[in-house]
Amino acid sequence: PLKLSTNTYNDDILVVENENENVPDRENATLLMLVRNFELPGALKSMRSLEDRFNKDYHYDWVFLNDVPFSMEFIEATTAMASGKTYYSLIPSKDWDRPDWIDEKKFEDRLQLLHDKGVLYGSSKSYRNMCRFNSGFFYKQKILESYDYYFRVEPDVEYFCDFPYDPFKVMKKNNKKYGFVISLHEYEDTITSLWDAVDEYIEENSRDIDMERNSYDFITNSDIIGKFSPIVDSNSDYNLCHFWSNFEIGDLNFFRSERYNRYFDFLDSKGGFYYERWGDAPVHSIGVSLLLNRDEIIHFDELGYYHAPFGTCPGAYYLRLQQRCQCDAHAQSNIDISPNSCLMRWWKYGDGKRFVKYEQ
Ligand code: GDP
Ligand code: MN
Repeated sequence: PLKLSTNTYNDDILVVENENENVPDRENATLLMLVRNFELPGALKSMRSLEDRFNKDYHYDWVFLNDVPFSMEFIEATTAMASGKTYYSLIPSKDWDRPDWIDEKKFEDRLQLLHDKGVLYGSSKSYRNMCRFNSGFFYKQKILESYDYYFRVEPDVEYFCDFPYDPFKVMKKNNKKYGFVISLHEYEDTITSLWDAVDEYIEENSRDIDMERNSYDFITNSDIIGKFSPIVDSNSDYNLCHFWSNFEIGDLNFFRSERYNRYFDFLDSKGGFYYERWGDAPVHSIGVSLLLNRDEIIHFDELGYYHAPFGTCPGAYYLRLQQRCQCDAHAQSNIDISPNSCLMRWWKYGDGKRFVKYEQ
């Protein structure tokens, strides 16, 4: 039963308790959605899918973040859909809005430039706030302080298959700090100078980076320089491969670490979140590829997922039956079989454990 006793934010955080009985042993983790009030139908769709495919057996908490207060309608409907506790938190303006050291004239000129180039979200100001927030501020939110892991969920996504395990447990047991399902190439026009900044960062912070054990080879194209590639046409050493961050499961302690924040602060100081349109996906991906060991990153091979316009569907026929998958592994939208996917590169240069079967 719903226990909605208040519609005011206490300390900017509202908590609603669902009854929680008979939950299995869980990790200290939460499902996390940054979302706008008008996206309620899409939020409910994603929640229904994840609850049905996974969380109904676990009742993990849901945390919702917004830069404006959630409406009562949003709170009631999402709490009714959740099997766990729900938390609603207002993002402080300092963590969301454009900082005052951004040059307004340059910012407006660059918005126009990306707009004219036809870049997706090229002229959106709020999209830039969102990308910067997801890159360097979500894990600083007070509401997440007490958790070790988060599972990012977006409105209007779908999970195609029953989860064969609790992914948080798999992460914990196997010492994984970042998990993904889809990896692909980024639009270069959004990150024109990102790699220059990264190069400079690496130069200044080599003590944070273990080149022997990290995934540098996954995100750079040293091996294909001078060779024909239909996809990678990058001006820098960055091959544009990134983990698609609309699905990610991460270790908050890694993001809260000094080394990740040295990395984020360095990039942020360049202004590229505003003067260009740096996405949180390449920023997270380059960060984890440089700072984590290869074997601390996990590709969840068994999880089916869709976020427009791409999906991933497990390749193994019996696994699809076993997990009641509703997807077509041979569909056009299955990114894993498209040349735009970086998954094969991950198998080759990432942790290389293509056929490990993770159990909880
Ligand atoms: P896309 O996946 O790159 O097309 O971008 P989305 O529109 O899906 O945005 C990514 C995530 O950020 C989604 O969870 C959105 O609900 C959320 N989001 C985007 N812009 C805003 C915003 O201005 N305010 C809030 N609260 N959430 C936003
Ligand atoms: Mn999205």
